[in-house]
Amino acid sequence: MQDPSLPQLALTILAIDFLRYGLAAGTVWLLVEVLLGRRLAGRRILDGTRQPGQVRREFSYSIATVVIFAANGMLIWLLSKAGTVEIYADVAERGWVWWWASLVLIIVAHDAWFYWTHRALHHRRWFRAVHGRHHASLHPTPWAAYAFHPVEALVQAVFLPLFLLVVPMHEGAIAVFLVHMILRNTIGHCAHELLPWRWTPRGWLGWVTPVSHHHFHHARNRGNFGLYFTWWDRWCGTEDPDYLRHGDARFGKAKAAGQSA
Ligand SMILES: [Zn+2]
Ligand SMILES: [Zn+2]
Repeated sequence: MQDPSLPQLALTILAIDFLRYGLAAGTVWLLVEVLLGRRLAGRRILDGTRQPGQVRREFSYSIATVVIFAANGMLIWLLSKAGTVEIYADVAERGWVWWWASLVLIIVAHDAWFYWTHRALHHRRWFRAVHGRHHASLHPTPWAAYAFHPVEALVQAVFLPLFLLVVPMHEGAIAVFLVHMILRNTIGHCAHELLPWRWTPRGWLGWVTPVSHHHFHHARNRGNFGLYFTWWDRWCGTEDPDYLRHGDARFGKAKAAGQSA
């Protein structure tokens, strides 16, 4: 098959990135806020209200990020054509074990990248100039998933080409990574605790960040820098103990014992 022209390719990648954001944020918003809104009322993490114009702001910042991510997609495509990074199409080239191993590896590596760059962006200077834009939402909605300053969008975008410089990946595994990323990101901003509190943060899924983890990062800004996993915050002592206390009281033991509404 003939390669598409560069403008065709740019438009296709832009459309895919836009749909990835729009469909994920729209679906999570529709489910949590509209279809299951009443049933999930008791799972709302904090009672704060949204600021006027918040969703519009989250959406417009996220669209700017989509454009930056699409430019990054173009860069990756060009690097792959030039043979600088290896993105292969035939699973048989490296087998299914590598397919799954590379997927796990990229998710774990991306979580580490996010934790450390995110912590750096909380340095007073960077926070004021860059990361404060994401924190404009104290009680975010799924539309805030990509609400970054362009500099932060670039910091997040550059992870994928850097990773692919070292680790060859099948195109399908990259697609699964990107879908997982946007789903975890939109769910992490949905302001409702979706998993049973006895599973995470202390049960068998204690290594996975519950929605409260990132929600408290927005509302209180006292730690919880991780994205997918709880381990970096635990290893580095940056886990916010308030989110655990709050979750225990609202969704956990106290509620199970009937001591608190
Ligand atoms: Zn932050
Ligand atoms: Zn956030």
